[in-house]
Amino acid sequence: MKSFYLTSNYRKLLKTLSLRRYCSKNEDKKKIHIENIRNIGILAHIDAGKTTTTERMLFYSGTIRSMGEVHHGNTVTDYMEQERQRGITITSAAVSFPWRGSQINLIDTPGHIDFTMEVEQSLAVLDGAVVVLDASAGVEAQTLTVWRQAAGYKVPRLLYLNKLDRADADVGACVRAVREKLHAAPLLLHAPLRYDNRLIGLIDLITLEEIVWTQGRGQNFTRRKLTEKEDGSKWETSVASHRELVDCLSSMDDRLAETVIMQESLDDLESKEIDAAIRRCTLSMSAFPILCGSSYKNIGVQTLMDAVVSYLPTPLQCNRLYNCFEKDLSARAFKVQHDDQRGVLTFLRLYSGEINRNQKIYNLGREKTEQTGSLYVALADEYKPVETVTAGNIAVVSSLKAAMTGDLITSTQSAGNRAKSKLSSMVADRSKVDALMLPSAKQRLQALESEPTDEELAEILLGIGTTVPEPVFVCSIEPPSAAFQSALETALTELQREDPSLRVSVDTDSGQMVLAGMGELHLEIIKERIIREYKIDAELGSLQIAYRETLIGSAKRSISVDRKIGGARQVVKVVMSAKSVKGVSQDKVLKLAKTPDSAANLAHLHPRSLTAVTRGTRSALQHGPKLGCPMVDTQVTLHWFEVGRGTSDSVVASAVVQCLRKVFQEADSVLLEPVMSLEIVCPESHSARVLADLARRRADLHHVQLRNQNKVIECLAPLSELLGYSSTLRSLSSGLATFTMEFHSNRQMAPHDEEKAIRNVTGF
Ligand code: GDP
Ligand code: MG
Repeated sequence: MKSFYLTSNYRKLLKTLSLRRYCSKNEDKKKIHIENIRNIGILAHIDAGKTTTTERMLFYSGTIRSMGEVHHGNTVTDYMEQERQRGITITSAAVSFPWRGSQINLIDTPGHIDFTMEVEQSLAVLDGAVVVLDASAGVEAQTLTVWRQAAGYKVPRLLYLNKLDRADADVGACVRAVREKLHAAPLLLHAPLRYDNRLIGLIDLITLEEIVWTQGRGQNFTRRKLTEKEDGSKWETSVASHRELVDCLSSMDDRLAETVIMQESLDDLESKEIDAAIRRCTLSMSAFPILCGSSYKNIGVQTLMDAVVSYLPTPLQCNRLYNCFEKDLSARAFKVQHDDQRGVLTFLRLYSGEINRNQKIYNLGREKTEQTGSLYVALADEYKPVETVTAGNIAVVSSLKAAMTGDLITSTQSAGNRAKSKLSSMVADRSKVDALMLPSAKQRLQALESEPTDEELAEILLGIGTTVPEPVFVCSIEPPSAAFQSALETALTELQREDPSLRVSVDTDSGQMVLAGMGELHLEIIKERIIREYKIDAELGSLQIAYRETLIGSAKRSISVDRKIGGARQVVKVVMSAKSVKGVSQDKVLKLAKTPDSAANLAHLHPRSLTAVTRGTRSALQHGPKLGCPMVDTQVTLHWFEVGRGTSDSVVASAVVQCLRKVFQEADSVLLEPVMSLEIVCPESHSARVLADLARRRADLHHVQLRNQNKVIECLAPLSELLGYSSTLRSLSSGLATFTMEFHSNRQMAPHDEEKAIRNVTGF
């Protein structure tokens, strides 16, 4: 029903709208200049009005001809069932629309902690953001989270006070909350205009005009200058707010301050100059403009879009990092989505150069050249084919097989190398590094044990080879019947490309498929998508913490197999040992022994046998002796290998597995549990309770400091103690605390904790 609604809508739309204006080179007579592009996100606490506001923006820009409403379930951006049900946004769809000679590219950002990869990637490609507040609720828990994340990515922001039609909406309280909870300097640009206790429009505090939305769906509004004579007290209070605004601005902006001094009176200032000062303060993040409105009642959305264009940065004002590509293509893949008709679609944010239909591209992280297929721009949920997309824009390309969320893309390998060496020489001056740093790069740098070389630093800054976070939860997944097995496998493969933090593996013993992911909700949502989008009634096993095992001792064992299978004699003898080696890299897991005897024997090892031995080793390492969890920090050595003619590779591999099982059993193992690093920000008044609770959760405090009126607590805690932590923290802090959590390391457990974990998993 909904898809019919949308499709018919868009068919009409495509015929009637002059959307051809941008992106496509051949067709556009009036090309949108990069300075007129705004790449923005809308961030908010649940239910503040993100979806409603977006829908209005699309409507007033002419991109859709009728507005959907959230409660009718027909809005364009809420196309995922779960978002409506859970009230969170899960996919980062991008939508482009024209606004008064500019083009706004709206990138949808998921707000939940479990979707770290997606949140990071979509924040990383924003140039600016609108933070929507419910004016009757003010700054809410998730407002704080998104605010801090956006600040981490140095994204300039506007605030939009929505729901001002409600009787309990309170602009003054919101402005205070912005100051006190977000510790941000507010620039109030609007005041609500009420008539008979009903919101009818806004007062523009820059121009001192009243803006009244006349009727219907809010397309029309009038502006009228307030006058002392006609408007009396309304004029007075507005002038007072205007002066306060100019005062505040000139205290932060020297240029405006100078102009004010020259003109001798605050009232002689031109709106143009005030606007320019607001823009400068917004870009430097020294202040944050506050706009007002009621999206539902169609008031204030056009003025909000004007503010986006006037105050938020152009693509040229951000991302100096990508300057090293000069005129070559540089683009970041921030979303991979599966489309029924077009196959896999990759959303790219272009920073420099341009991309053409059917061109070859080079993926820097995966060191791979790929052929792109069609090229589109995303308009609401319609994709419009184009020939070229230029820097600053969002492109959607089909046919990429290797590109994953987060990958950096350029035109050719040599373009990539040129950019890397340019950046390397730039960062030789380490004082330049901070300005180019994204939070994910910061984390990787902090994790390094030694000072990186210029080249390594350049790669980290560009986010090349970004490691996907370690999954911390696992559960089994089963199709409803064997007939659905291959459909389920296809579904999981597709979901995995969209979301690299989902891992899928097959248990070699039971043949069962196992999902590993970032959180409870993460896996839950994957399951719902499989049921809803792929129509497979998959069954998830109970959620378990992803423990690892590592050896305590070392051991050496041999095994001989001599069997007849189907008439052919299968003979193999192996001698292997294993020990614990901290941080052993993937390619060094299997070593060949160097003693003279072994070396002589292994000199005859056929590459094909070596492949089989490696396969067996990998498979054996999937299951530790204690609880069957994957082994880490384990190095295996092959000492002796004999194989009879005609022996199959799988017999060799399974002999290796058997041998290593015995070795692991004898060397004995311990369980390692995932330990998370937490940062909790909470008001000082509640910090004692939060700290006491952390102590009960086996947390190691690292750092507690005071930032503004908040305690910032950094600690490490085992994941097993953090199940449901967000709701506990909410109740401990009356909803005022926020926290971020990420995987830190796997750590050995105390014996009685280990026993408890084993009891939990095995049931005895
Ligand atoms: P989201 O969760 O941020 O996407 O918020 P929605 O756009 O889904 O809005 C949540 C609820 O608030 C819906 O029932 C909307 O109809 C309602 N809503 C949105 N904007 C307004 C507004 O300006 N005034 C009032 N009174 N309700 C609004
Ligand atoms: Mg929504």
